[in-house]
Amino acid sequence: MGNKKRIIGAFLCALMLVSAACENSFVSSAKVTQESIKAKEAQISKSKKERDALSSAKTNLEKVKKQLEESKSDLNNYITNLDGQLSDIQGKIDDLGDEISQKVKEIEVTTEELIEAEDIQKAQYEAMKKRIKFMYERGDTLYFELLLESGSFSDMLNKAEYIESLSMYDRDKLNEYIATADLIRLTKEALEEEKQTLDAAKAAKETEEKNLQSLLDTKNKELTAVQADITNKEAAIKEYEAEIKAENAAIAALEKEVAADKASLLTRYTYDGGMFTWPCPNYTRISDNYGMRTHPTLGVKKMHNGIDLAAPSGSSILAAYRGTVVAADYNSTMGNYIMINHGGGLYTIYMHCSSIYVSKGKDVAAGAKIGAVGSTGRSTGPHLHFGVRLNGNYVSPWNYLK
Ligand SMILES: [Zn+2]
Repeated sequence: MGNKKRIIGAFLCALMLVSAACENSFVSSAKVTQESIKAKEAQISKSKKERDALSSAKTNLEKVKKQLEESKSDLNNYITNLDGQLSDIQGKIDDLGDEISQKVKEIEVTTEELIEAEDIQKAQYEAMKKRIKFMYERGDTLYFELLLESGSFSDMLNKAEYIESLSMYDRDKLNEYIATADLIRLTKEALEEEKQTLDAAKAAKETEEKNLQSLLDTKNKELTAVQADITNKEAAIKEYEAEIKAENAAIAALEKEVAADKASLLTRYTYDGGMFTWPCPNYTRISDNYGMRTHPTLGVKKMHNGIDLAAPSGSSILAAYRGTVVAADYNSTMGNYIMINHGGGLYTIYMHCSSIYVSKGKDVAAGAKIGAVGSTGRSTGPHLHFGVRLNGNYVSPWNYLK
């Protein structure tokens, strides 16, 4: 009993060793596994998230840029408004300039009038002085007393205005003199006023010129600032675009890798260079060989991409080598057909079957019964069309058959 148990244990152990060894030999040489593919897919979705984050940051930035452009156009309106104000101010400055030159002319005229009046007054004064001297020399005491009582000549003239006993001639002369003095005073006042107006106009002009300059400065500053902001945003958007492009390229490369990895995982097997099992046992007659031939039904010269093995309907079809069934299907040319992936880019194809015993995704051993001979599809009688594909091209099955 114990002995028996030990033998079974050893047998199981040997089985496990064999299966482990087999499995090792089946595992493809590249380190592609479901886990490595999952890791790459995780990397892809991470990259996509990063790209999407970049895209939304870029979108936000574009919004900001759009707002800036809108505020720039608002600013353009503001500038148009400013320019309106500028021409108003310029108009005021021009008006003030006209007013100033007008005032300067008026002041010149008034000054001339004043000089003239002062000359007249001087002449009148001299004439009156002569008159008083004459009266004094003639012994007219009125003028003498008047002159003595007054502190000055002009004081005397003020007094004389109220003296009734002055002669008609002297009164007329005195009135003329007083009128000239009034004219001089008024002219001086007018001149003073004109000068003040001129100063005010000059000051106003200066203020307006300052306003003009400050408006121009504001306008230029704002325009420069907004434009600089837009330029910065544009540069940032370009950077985002470059990063998104790089991210997309990385994603595309990873996706390509994953697709290739998945394709390589379609079979657990790697073709090890072994020779094929004859796919149709006991039937070795080749009714049509691999190579150029006249097509039996179409009647044209055509490449025959496999070998036709004549066999009665229902005869067994065997898998030529271990591999994974990648197609077990029907089409109007091939009829019922089976395709097996043996790894290393090597596939075998079995056409015109009457029955198929395997399904897609199944692993098969060399010599496993996978179908039965028939005449389905484009076929003139029961036979197995056996083809071999290597890296996407049909090759001669004789390279693999004894
Ligand atoms: Zn054929």
